[in-house]
Amino acid sequence: MGIDLVWMTFVAIVAAAGILIVLEHRHPYHQGQQLFRAGFYLDMVWYAILQSYILSLVIYGVIGLVRPYVDPQSLGVFRSMPMLAQLGIALLVHDFYIYWFHRLQHAVPALWRIHEAHHSSHDVDWLSGSRSHPTEILINQTVEFLPLVLFASPEVVLLKGCVDAIWGMYIHSNIDVSTGWLQYIINGPEMHRWHHADDEAVTNVNFSTKLAVWDWIFRTAYLPKHRKPERYGLGGDSYPATYLGQTVYAFRSERRNS
Ligand SMILES: [Zn+2]
Ligand SMILES: [Zn+2]
Repeated sequence: MGIDLVWMTFVAIVAAAGILIVLEHRHPYHQGQQLFRAGFYLDMVWYAILQSYILSLVIYGVIGLVRPYVDPQSLGVFRSMPMLAQLGIALLVHDFYIYWFHRLQHAVPALWRIHEAHHSSHDVDWLSGSRSHPTEILINQTVEFLPLVLFASPEVVLLKGCVDAIWGMYIHSNIDVSTGWLQYIINGPEMHRWHHADDEAVTNVNFSTKLAVWDWIFRTAYLPKHRKPERYGLGGDSYPATYLGQTVYAFRSERRNS
């Protein structure tokens, strides 16, 4: 793996962000939503750039500690498969895991605390999905990348990270997408935006990330034909608005009333 693939995945993520921003402007799900909305700086600088960078160093550090204890003989089996097969299996297995972990986060109060930040934005767009508590990222990305770094080709790790980033931006984007029957298989903003809705009548729906099939199979899918969420977020304005405030809030004993 050369610097080329690192560079190509970076360019792909930036290009995808640019395309999504243009599509948000041309085919908005909600009219009038601003690119530089409240929390733009927080999501871009603190979550998308600084947190991602620092946590990826931490996660690779942890993986480096585990690596000496892994039997080198077992490494070749998965790695000898074609790269696309490795990537496909990694996507499928991780997506199934993340559906259930995500569903658990909405059901178990202690896990909800590290997921709350992700639901705190009042505007859901291409960037808002980057807002996730560092503990949530540490758990999920260690589970995701530990087996990949140990058992997959190095290219697969990079490609999987690239697909994750682009898909994450896509499912949150403020784009009026209608994929028809494809929405039964592939997840998109038409369902994930409902997951972020601040609507008492629509809770615990659409936990899927990349494949919508999990929501349809496990009966958590919600996709109304002629209705859109009116509000997003946690209700009220009492949730902290800064990175430090949001990070610490997950561990505070007293909760603010919203
Ligand atoms: Zn959620
Ligand atoms: Zn989300």
